[in-house]
Amino acid sequence: ATLPNLPLLAALSSHPPSKTAIIHNSSRKSFDFGSLLHDIFRWRAVLSKLGPGKRIAIMGENSYQFLVCLLAATSLPETIAVPLCPSHTAPEITYQLDDSDCCAIVSTERFKDKLAPLVNGREFVIYEETDLPHSDPVVIAKDDPTDAVNTSGIILYTSGTSGNPKGVVIPNATLHAQASSLIKAWQIGPTDTILHTLPLHHIHGILNALLVPLFVGATVVFQFPFAAGPVLSLLAHEDASAPKITVYTAVPTVYARLSTQYRSFPPDKQAAITAAIPKSLHLAMCGSAALPDPLRDGWAQLSGRHPQLLERYGMTEVGMALSQPLQEGERVSGSVGKPLPGVHARLVDKDTLEVLYECVGWQSEDWIAKKPEGDEQVLGEIELYGPTIFKEYWRKPQATVNSFVADASGRNWFRTGDIAGVDSAGRWWIKGRESMDIIKSGGEKLSALEIEREILSLAGIAECAVVGLPSPDWGQAVATVVVMQAGVEPITYDVLKADLKQRLTGYKIPKELKVVEQIPRNQMGKVNKKTLVKQVWPEKF
Ligand code: ATP
Ligand code: MG
Repeated sequence: ATLPNLPLLAALSSHPPSKTAIIHNSSRKSFDFGSLLHDIFRWRAVLSKLGPGKRIAIMGENSYQFLVCLLAATSLPETIAVPLCPSHTAPEITYQLDDSDCCAIVSTERFKDKLAPLVNGREFVIYEETDLPHSDPVVIAKDDPTDAVNTSGIILYTSGTSGNPKGVVIPNATLHAQASSLIKAWQIGPTDTILHTLPLHHIHGILNALLVPLFVGATVVFQFPFAAGPVLSLLAHEDASAPKITVYTAVPTVYARLSTQYRSFPPDKQAAITAAIPKSLHLAMCGSAALPDPLRDGWAQLSGRHPQLLERYGMTEVGMALSQPLQEGERVSGSVGKPLPGVHARLVDKDTLEVLYECVGWQSEDWIAKKPEGDEQVLGEIELYGPTIFKEYWRKPQATVNSFVADASGRNWFRTGDIAGVDSAGRWWIKGRESMDIIKSGGEKLSALEIEREILSLAGIAECAVVGLPSPDWGQAVATVVVMQAGVEPITYDVLKADLKQRLTGYKIPKELKVVEQIPRNQMGKVNKKTLVKQVWPEKF
């Protein structure tokens, strides 16, 4: 039995076979690295009948079985695994199946009924029931590099925050480069145990919380589906028979839910959690959307100030790109830190296309524009280059061409579409997406994210989204949608304005306010502002 010499499979085979790779927290079932390799091999034999050279869609709960199928598919020649999200709607799933041109869907009994109407002539494999071939000891091919070259990797769809999700092709070698950079920066090691509560159709859940620990031989604990109570219990290690979590990574909305749950507990239980968390957890990370101060403060309260939340910035197209430093004392709230090891980043003026600043990883930096002083920041679009960056959108050649720009030495830079500021210390500050979060009002370019941060700091506000509305006077007028905290009377416009006057210059203060029950968010807790404004101000769009 021989598996190709993929970086991840080679890493898996180098870990002690009896070491625990995966734990299902609900059943406490655990699986070691030895059986992981065997089962990947056994599933590879099943899936090879569907491929090779195809796309294979996989939908499952966050589980060992899902992981086995995913890695088996990526290890087949020229085959690409396409993980799907179980809570997506039928049209969303159909879009991804058709767009990726999948030949097969692999799933579990639990999603059989949901998927059956969408199969549309494809092979449909249910993974609990298939007879697996007998497994001999598995050997990783050491001398056949062509095997590794011929295998492809995965397609992950972007979150669809700004339009239809785009399929991002991420070859196995790129995943390896992305994981290596994070392991180095965050010093994840074999003694770590990572709590995984994220969806597995998205880069955050696949790379940061799954591939990183697998590469280093750490243990991954699946708690699925996410629920704030069990997660707090695990982080505080309330049950002595549960695994002790050392690393956690999640999105801002998850930290919001953890805080809400924590506040609902009686004071003695709160105190016990706060005392316990710092004893085992040493790294808690947040990303995929901006982290507002009240959420950072909420976490600081429940964790007793350690570990502090580490914020980082990433994208489906690039894995992770910018991160706060590992040393807590060196983190600056609101900044996402500096480029990760191996990531080349530059800041480009959107209007003149002039490069303002360029740096590689934590080390080299080059001010091409005038270096800012004091609190100043230089603003521009983030462009990225290096071994962690994707090369193409799946079957979208025009979108791919539009996303890259070559420099004089032939390097192809990816244009992220995100606007950032860089300060005099070389720290990056995300201002938001050019297309949704940068509001052009009265000749100024305003960051919706900065205004949201201030609104969220006002008493009684639970959520908010700042948008630009078409305005004959201003080009765009700043407006905000807010959700009040439970039981709090809706804020009036006059109060909002008076409160914000203390914090923001006049032209940044919203000219309109709508209080709503809920702000619709996608799977990753992100707001599609283009849809939101049409819902809230239909007369303006
Ligand atoms: P689509 O590309 O389909 O519109 P999406 O961009 O939301 O969806 P993802 O790849 O999941 O899909 O998200 C990447 C984006 O998330 C980044 O481009 C950035 O706008 C945002 N983001 C990620 N991390 C942060 C962060 N720490 N602060 C602010 N924004 C962030
Ligand atoms: Mg995007």
